[in-house]
Amino acid sequence: MDTKVVKIDKEQIDDEKLMEAAEILRAGGLVAFPTETVYGLGANALNEEAAKKIYAAKGRPSDNPLIAHISKPEELAPLVKEVPEAGKKLMEAYWPGPLTMIFPKSDIVPYGTTGGLDTVAIRMPSDPIANRMIALAGIPIAAPSANTSGRPSPTTAEHVYQDMNGKIEMILDGGAVGIGVESTIVDVSGPVPMLLRPGAITIEMLRETVGQVEIDPAIQGPMAANVKPKAPGMKYRHYAPKAELVLVEEKNPETKEVISDRVIEEINLLAKSRLDQGQKVGIICTEETRDCYPQGMVRSLGFRSRPETIAHNLFAVLREFDDLGVDYIYSESFPKDHLGRPS
Ligand code: AMP
Ligand code: MG
Repeated sequence: MDTKVVKIDKEQIDDEKLMEAAEILRAGGLVAFPTETVYGLGANALNEEAAKKIYAAKGRPSDNPLIAHISKPEELAPLVKEVPEAGKKLMEAYWPGPLTMIFPKSDIVPYGTTGGLDTVAIRMPSDPIANRMIALAGIPIAAPSANTSGRPSPTTAEHVYQDMNGKIEMILDGGAVGIGVESTIVDVSGPVPMLLRPGAITIEMLRETVGQVEIDPAIQGPMAANVKPKAPGMKYRHYAPKAELVLVEEKNPETKEVISDRVIEEINLLAKSRLDQGQKVGIICTEETRDCYPQGMVRSLGFRSRPETIAHNLFAVLREFDDLGVDYIYSESFPKDHLGRPS
């Protein structure tokens, strides 16, 4: 299959181009598109066969459910059995935006989309291209991140192309996306809302809106096998780079603005020992410290004093290290309120 790449200007959206994408989606095909978090791989959420194609293109296990994306609040009702009070409040506060909510599903949502569950995950993206494309399609769009399963999520159309060329009908290229962290997932189907995946909307923001929010015990548990933390704290499990990622954390976790000499020294020692063994080493730091690392492939995520740049650049750097065949990544750590809690 030829994958068509279509450039779209966010500032001046061309409906004709988006109509072509909408037609492909209505016909059961796959279109990758930018959202405010990462690039999504879209299919008709109400068509089981279309959802299956997403799993095939990503190489994703089919029991991992998909998030259905809508363009306006009115599109929610047909997909769910009910909208609990907490869901209403969170919708008002954070939709459109990077918040996914879990509701009891209605009968029109196929089990092929929900991975066999009686609940459905729904989000209303604020990205103007995503939102307009969904509105034109007139159907909810199931869309996981547009990467091969296990690879870091894509933040540019080029990343999507690397993984999806030949497997999907179209890629809408809207440039680099803004947040680079996945949507926060909250289950509002039970009596107390529960955070299932940390993301761009923080637990503090959720609690401000609805009061009590529980945290799924599973996401506070052990880290992924490829992350060997030096101290407990925030880990990047769902970024899943091919290399082994080691976060070197401050002894005092409150430190956000500066990185201590101890951390820099430890990263340099770790890097040196792997380089001496002939391994490829990547180092993740910030502009403030980049000159402190004389060896390895050193990549800065931006300024520590401007944390909004950090999350955005992280996926791109992890991908670059994957492409360069890096074996070990040593990273400074970053405040968890900008990268989410462990997941
Ligand atoms: P992704 O599409 O890659 O951002 O991943 C979607 C995430 O949403 C996965 O972690 C799923 O487990 C989660 N998810 C989707 N639907 C549900 C649901 N009905 N209940 C719980 N989690 C869900
Ligand atoms: Mg993903």
